Amino acid sequence: MEQQLIRCVGCGVQIQTEDEKQIGYAPPAALEKETVICQRCFRLKHYNEVQDVSLADDDFLKILHEIGKSDGLVVKIVDIFDFNGSWLPGLHRFVGKNNILLVGNKVDLLPKSVKYPKLIHWMKKSAKDLGLKPVDVFLISAEKGIGMKKVMEAIDHYRFGKDVYVVGCTNVGKSTFINRIIKEVTGEGNVITTSHFPGTTLDMIEIPLEDGAVMYDTPGIINHHQMAHYVDKKDLKIITPKKEIKPKVYQLNESQTLFFGGLARLDYVKGGRRSFVCYFSNELNIHRTKLEKADHLYEKQRGELLQPPRASYMEQFPPLVAHSFTIKEPKTDIVFSGLGWVTCNEPGAQIVAYVPKGVNVILRKSLI
Ligand code: GDP
Repeated sequence: MEQQLIRCVGCGVQIQTEDEKQIGYAPPAALEKETVICQRCFRLKHYNEVQDVSLADDDFLKILHEIGKSDGLVVKIVDIFDFNGSWLPGLHRFVGKNNILLVGNKVDLLPKSVKYPKLIHWMKKSAKDLGLKPVDVFLISAEKGIGMKKVMEAIDHYRFGKDVYVVGCTNVGKSTFINRIIKEVTGEGNVITTSHFPGTTLDMIEIPLEDGAVMYDTPGIINHHQMAHYVDKKDLKIITPKKEIKPKVYQLNESQTLFFGGLARLDYVKGGRRSFVCYFSNELNIHRTKLEKADHLYEKQRGELLQPPRASYMEQFPPLVAHSFTIKEPKTDIVFSGLGWVTCNEPGAQIVAYVPKGVNVILRKSLI
């Protein structure tokens, strides 16, 4: 109980010793010290490295609200492999007059044939449809170092000497991005000291920029509609692409079904013979069957032939829920949030997409 009163001398967050992934974590031994610093601030101070932590929805809204009241540049990071799932829907209502740079990370996962200008155009259009008007849009790979120089120049240009707020939901690669910037800006030197930390409870940490302004790392918000929350760690490794995705093309007749492991399913109900292009982790097993056999197969083989999820995790796995669509536009993606997507090139197909209860499935204009 006593623990509840302790705050981090760095960022002001309330200290907890239970969950390393959550904000405010400090190892129990740290509580014996006179001043307590949370693990996130500790890492930044001693290793010049930020760590990803996540935050409950309400607290995240508070942070966005604070950003709206301040004057600076907002850098919003999305995962280009999970564009809609990592979007942060409410952001435009909060940022106020602040400029936004939209940064699509993990571009290394997309097939090499993808043309960057076309994809950037697609991102601009999608952002507009989702209510956001960024001043500029970039594609990067924080991990591979692709496009970093350009985006750093843009940050410097658009911040006009003011502060920078980096936002994004968990797992978009925000920490990887910031750590790369810290390395580029500071070299290996330890320029970050606790005196730079704000004594507030905003849960944002400050990284000083050359001219006295600061870059704020905000905690990521968990997107509950992503597939990642419904599988265990080992299966997450299978469904998270690590390398360039090799699209798999299926010529389907009416009344055929594709299973994506046992995590999702696509029934092609009506519309003549046509091709479906699947963009998923190369390791995810895709199984084709007849629609009439699909229910029985799933009943018998989930956790076995149809995995992930592995058998031991099946009990906790939510039931698959059907979503019916008619494809009306040419070049449409059927997106399984956080898992991947299937492109249908010609309109007119009747399909049913199955995802675990709680996971989103949407249609969008084709990304590739
Ligand atoms: P955060 O939660 O937003 O801070 O995300 P992290 O920086 O911890 O990254 C989440 C995961 O995405 C990690 O497994 C990273 O290795 C991976 N990741 C980050 N940047 C990239 C990238 O540019 N390409 C790829 N393929 N993976 C990335």
